[in-house]
Amino acid sequence: MTLPPPARIGQSVDEVDTPALLVDLDALEANIAHMQSLADAAGKALRPHAKSHKSADIALRQIAAGAAGVCCQKVSEAELLAQGGVTDILVSNQVVGAAKIGRLARLARDCALAVCVDDAGNLAEIAAAARRSGGIIEVLVELDVGMGRCGVGAEGVAALARQAAEEEGVRFGGLQAYNGRAQHIREHGKRAGAIAGSQVIVADALEQLRAAGLDCPRITGAGTGTFEFEAGGDVWTELQCGSYVFMDADYARNLDAEGEMLSRFRHSLFVLAGVMSVAQAGRAVVDAGLKAMSMESGLPEVAGNDDLIYRGASDEHGTLATGSSNGPALGDRVRLIPGHCDPTVNLHDWYVCVRGGVVEEIWPVTARGAVF
Ligand SMILES: *Cc1c(COP(=O)(O)O)cnc(C)c1O
Repeated sequence: MTLPPPARIGQSVDEVDTPALLVDLDALEANIAHMQSLADAAGKALRPHAKSHKSADIALRQIAAGAAGVCCQKVSEAELLAQGGVTDILVSNQVVGAAKIGRLARLARDCALAVCVDDAGNLAEIAAAARRSGGIIEVLVELDVGMGRCGVGAEGVAALARQAAEEEGVRFGGLQAYNGRAQHIREHGKRAGAIAGSQVIVADALEQLRAAGLDCPRITGAGTGTFEFEAGGDVWTELQCGSYVFMDADYARNLDAEGEMLSRFRHSLFVLAGVMSVAQAGRAVVDAGLKAMSMESGLPEVAGNDDLIYRGASDEHGTLATGSSNGPALGDRVRLIPGHCDPTVNLHDWYVCVRGGVVEEIWPVTARGAVF
């Protein structure tokens, strides 16, 4: 059994059932256009990270606006977005084990596909699978640029790049150089410093590739928190920002050069919640809790109402403090700005897309649950 969406096209947003994952189309379109214009002005390719939205509809809008393709984090995400019409995908992650590698190789027959590696044996398996399936997989050597997660050091890049250049079935595409840890550093100057450190590591790796006589066509990285720094230098060729499309509450706490909230992007993703209890003074309970929003990056904020503070959640409930105001009435709606957009999206089947208070489109969360 599959449930229908919580809304119908043409309905007023007040009639949408709750909780629902809401997209403000004007804000979404403005974010897509703004990031593309910044990438264009910097002369960088934009390859938005689709792990933020898991949506073929949004990916195709980003590509129509000028993006080179998208990033995915999982083979299953890539498969579903390819089915949805995306033709150029970077799996910006390691793909390990025969099952996943086999699917990756089959997918490479249907679209332009790249993947990250940091291990010679894994690279050999990927190449062998690509030879069996008859597709070509582009390989990016992942460099640890200060994140402390996957990736080799600069000294390990040339050997993997040479192997990728020589093995049949794969081709060496360049470097994956993403510093995820730097994205959420609040202070502008400290984020700049972190990416300056990453750039030193990339420059070292490029020197080693040059010494080995290997070309490095693509250097890809950056996220919403730091892209201005990667875009500002002449090292990176491609930007992988993801969250800019929605701007969650956590990202809104990053400060810009003037010490203000990063204001260039608008909140476009909300969880529409309904007030289900006002039995106690000073408190309103809404129907969106841990199963409607991810809260590991902080609690949601109530959009457009500073008097209402989301204080805590359980599975199906969220408790709002109503402060000095009278507070909402039973059945009222509140729009919640999720703390972290990516895992919030993964909790929902549908995007209810609104403009001017009216439901204009309903999109599936194409790759919901695609975590393998
Ligand atoms: C998440 C991620 C991004 C996008 O980061 P945002 O902070 O959401 O903009 C880019 N590249 C990689 C490899 C990622 O994992």
